[in-house]
Amino acid sequence: MASCIFCKIIKGDIPCFKLFESDKTLAFLDINPLSRGHALVIPKFHGEKLTDIPDEHLAEILPIAKRLVVATGAEEYNILQNNGRGAHQEVGHVHFHMIPKPNAKEGLG
Ligand code: 5GP
Ligand code: ZN
Repeated sequence: MASCIFCKIIKGDIPCFKLFESDKTLAFLDINPLSRGHALVIPKFHGEKLTDIPDEHLAEILPIAKRLVVATGAEEYNILQNNGRGAHQEVGHVHFHMIPKPNAKEGLG
């Protein structure tokens, strides 16, 4: 979707610190991290909310989030996914946050 900031990141029109990429999935560091290693994992398929995304475009999301957790060495972390303005969604392209807690060992970020 032309006006979507995350679609622009997927296309390479906006730079990001890329952590993982496949044909269906992209993971990159959050530009305004809540902690060191705060990452976003997104389907390349554009949809605003989780229910807009076909299952086959979601299959890699949690395995990749899990791999990023391991890469950071975080023992405590949040996986978050917001849907709708009232639920604190600011970017209208489905994304999963992986937020390590500050006790994370040296790793990504
Ligand atoms: P939301 O509140 O929609 O769940 O979270 C959106 C997240 O996207 C925020 O944590 C914000 O920092 C991040 N974000 C917004 N624009 C950009 C961008 O251009 N690049 C990157 N890497 N992250 C972004
Ligand atoms: Zn998009």
